[in-house]
Amino acid sequence: MECPFCMIAAGTIPADLVHADDRVVAFRDINPQAPVHVLVIPREHHGNVGALATANPELLGDLLAAAAQIAADEDLDAGYRLVINTGGDGGQTVDHVHVHLLGGRHLTWPPG
Ligand code: AMP
Ligand code: ZN
Repeated sequence: MECPFCMIAAGTIPADLVHADDRVVAFRDINPQAPVHVLVIPREHHGNVGALATANPELLGDLLAAAAQIAADEDLDAGYRLVINTGGDGGQTVDHVHVHLLGGRHLTWPPG
């Protein structure tokens, strides 16, 4: 198994987990871009958000619901941002779909 996020979901490489259930796993980003920076992934491997939306739209809903619950757990009452980088121009570097949950500071717009 070569996908690093599949390996995190399986527990074969370590991560700082903040959530795990039968469908969704979340862990702190190794290179945080905000005081709270969590990655929310499905246990099932899907390469990007389009592939996930086609194959299992309910699971995409599960990811967003988990991200919102983690934001509440992390006390991000002032707001937060969810990002799904997709493809090269989108800045995707890991080909296992993941939602970035960013918060704990004021986030500027537009993004870089
Ligand atoms: P993206 O560029 O949207 O594909 O995001 C990939 C994210 O995964 C980056 O923010 C990385 O810092 C993060 N990342 C890569 N490997 C790990 C890891 N082993 N544990 C935690 N975060 C990771
Ligand atoms: Zn994977």
